[in-house]
Amino acid sequence: MRILIAGAGPAGTAVAESLREMGFEGEILMFTAEPFPPYSPPVLAEYLESKGKSRTLFWKGEDFTERVNAGLIYRKISALDMGNKRIITSDGVEYTYDKLVLATGARMWIPVECECPQEGPKEKFYNFKSLTAVNKLLDELRKGAERAVVIGAGFIGMEIALTLREMGLKVTVVEMMDRILPRMVNKTIARPLEEEVRKRGIELRLNSKAVFLRGRETAEELVLESGEVIKAELFIAATGVRPNVDFLKDSGISVGRGIKVNEYLEAGPDVYAGGDVAEVRDIVTGNVYPHAIYPEAVAQGKVIAANLMGYRIPYPGALNMNSLHHFGLPLISEGAMEGEEEPDEEIFLERGGNIKRLLLKDGKILRFELVGDKKGAGLLHWITVRRLSFQPYREAFLRGRLNTALKMPFVSS
Ligand SMILES: Cc1cc2nc3c(=O)[nH]c(=O)nc-3n(C[C@H](O)[C@H](O)[C@H](O)COP(=O)(O)OP(=O)(O)OC[C@H]3O[C@@H](n4cnc5c(N)ncnc54)[C@H](O)[C@@H]3O)c2cc1C
Repeated sequence: MRILIAGAGPAGTAVAESLREMGFEGEILMFTAEPFPPYSPPVLAEYLESKGKSRTLFWKGEDFTERVNAGLIYRKISALDMGNKRIITSDGVEYTYDKLVLATGARMWIPVECECPQEGPKEKFYNFKSLTAVNKLLDELRKGAERAVVIGAGFIGMEIALTLREMGLKVTVVEMMDRILPRMVNKTIARPLEEEVRKRGIELRLNSKAVFLRGRETAEELVLESGEVIKAELFIAATGVRPNVDFLKDSGISVGRGIKVNEYLEAGPDVYAGGDVAEVRDIVTGNVYPHAIYPEAVAQGKVIAANLMGYRIPYPGALNMNSLHHFGLPLISEGAMEGEEEPDEEIFLERGGNIKRLLLKDGKILRFELVGDKKGAGLLHWITVRRLSFQPYREAFLRGRLNTALKMPFVSS
């Protein structure tokens, strides 16, 4: 039996590792479009800050594929022929499969025009989406770049902005919404975080839409809708991602916002899909879209492996979770994205700089955010995933005693 895994990120890696843990003895071949062993994207900021020296991003060990006895093929897949159960790589090599896993993740999507030469030694837009992209950024930093503009103030945009600032660059962040982390927090919670960001010397341009980049030899300045022009040596896009599905054109695999899968994460006959490339149901809202977070990629990889082994295990659905520590105080958010669904009720508690915000719908948690004191996060998570009524917990929550009053042995704080 030969299993091909298209993608060597957290999802593909989880498939290979779990298959071996469950006793799979057949052949596993993993494919990657980059010239590196499997690495963990959440550790890219640490890698950048270490100027490329840190190896912790190879979180499974650089010898992962040897350890799990899988082949790692450094070739980009350019087509899938489901009828003949084979994939074709961009250099024309064909590989047949008994089972195929699509775990090709997502790539940067940049909705900003560029009026500068198409070819040149420098990237027009840099990004932070892959190790290859971060290495290009490092090359530019080594040449002495001093000013950077980050477009997009989501969690990746803010992570890169704070890291570059820490490395001594002058950094400006351009965000078209009225706040940073717009999908994670509302304006009230964003405000103290924005103050902290400004205190660290980062310039924030909120309510500002980047329209185009221009330059004579290379990208030199970013033009905003307001007409303002920001000059820099580095322009970094953190404007969102799109699934890597180009190679599935005419393959018969259905693609919406990501690869469409059933509850067993099957995308077609003997084909599974998981991680950032697949669209899955959200357990809170029921909406279907790629969740694009590490724990979901790993969880989906494990379910796929179990189903490849012949178990019929349904995927329970995904949950949006973010935990940031970059602002000097912890920030945890979980549940529906900001603005995704209208709540019936909002509870907002602020005590001594700590904020707890809860959105409820039909008596259940739609979303919660904790800033500073994260006590109770485990219990709120438990109530959210089990879709329990919040009513029995309300009193303790309002008194700030959710954790101590109701601590349960099986719920971590
Ligand atoms: C900078 C950064 C920070 C992040 N921080 C967090 C965090 O703090 N918490 C969190 O939960 N999530 C975080 N994420 C998101 C998390 O990294 C992703 O959800 C996770 O990596 C998804 O795993 P994946 O395996 O689905 O895809 P990816 O990690 O994108 O891996 C895709 C794999 O597919 C390969 N591939 C793509 N196209 C092809 C092709 N045509 N042929 C062959 N191979 C191909 C790629 O080379 C790669 O090996 C972060 C992401 C980034 C970029």
